[in-house]
Amino acid sequence: MLTGLTIAIIGGDARQLEIIRKLTEQQANIYLVGFDQLDHGFTGAVKCKIDEIAFQQIDSIILPVSATTGEGVVATVFSNEEVVLKQEHLEQTPAHCVIYSGISNTYLEKIATEANRKLVKLFERDDIAIFNSIPTVEGTIMMAIQHTDYTIHGSRVAVLGLGRTGMTIARTFAALGAKVKVGARSSAHLARISEMGLAPFQIEELTENVKDIDICINTVPSMILNQAVLSRMTPKTLILDLASRPGGTDFKYAEKQGIKALLAPGLPGIVAPKTAGQILANVLSKLLSELQVGEEK
Ligand code: NAP
Repeated sequence: MLTGLTIAIIGGDARQLEIIRKLTEQQANIYLVGFDQLDHGFTGAVKCKIDEIAFQQIDSIILPVSATTGEGVVATVFSNEEVVLKQEHLEQTPAHCVIYSGISNTYLEKIATEANRKLVKLFERDDIAIFNSIPTVEGTIMMAIQHTDYTIHGSRVAVLGLGRTGMTIARTFAALGAKVKVGARSSAHLARISEMGLAPFQIEELTENVKDIDICINTVPSMILNQAVLSRMTPKTLILDLASRPGGTDFKYAEKQGIKALLAPGLPGIVAPKTAGQILANVLSKLLSELQVGEEK
């Protein structure tokens, strides 16, 4: 139970509804900013404007996955009003107040540091990243189906990176019958790829490994599908780039070469907003109850 905790949920999309549902069920007091067009009401949650929040009473602030823009504007799918999070808001909160967002940026880091408040980037956590890899792979399968005229079964797929997302992608495409090879740089990852029954290759040797593939799925957040690599690819290859913006592909050069290359950000929120929201809600509920215990000590 989160009885006694006061939380401001500022902005966000459908994923935030699962968070509101979970936290109100656990008796937290919630201020909702940026939800004025939401018909649905939640017991224990009060809709208001950002300047109406009694920040002195706030134990935690929950921002959307995307955090803020570089100017502090918080995305609000359920409102047309512009919501701006300022340093002065954070300065009014009690010292123990924790701010949660999916990712972060220089603006948010700066105002949190200068107000001396803890900022938690949820997407850096392994549990969230691993759970999120499930809707991510489903979205990747959807895109592969939409943009090809052949089955995944039997197709030659290269997955770049064996991190939390790459591992789920490689395993699932292999389970669908694709011939999967995986590029990685660490010897541990190369060993794991072999153990999974897939074909490993050194990412340094990417150029040699892209000549004969149907679908290339990138999870490496670095420019690795560069001109040298793309010039060895056939225009028949479909690139699905999952890495965070700006992705790991030279998209302009790919277009010049006639290669279809798609940046596919935010797949969990697109294909399964409810599940993606529940993943965040479950972890937040646990973190907030720890915050509550810390406060009681
Ligand atoms: P991760 O666990 O950190 O995995 C990243 C992988 O990339 C690791 O295997 C890492 O290798 C490798 N890597 C990083 N820099 C490299 C470089 N310069 N050269 C070669 N390999 C490199 O991250 P993740 O959680 O899987 O996420 C991967 C990316 O996908 C992130 O950008 C994330 O934001 C994004 N993502 C997108 C979606 C979507 O919907 N599109 C969903 C989830 C995640 P080492 O371990 O050797 O460093």
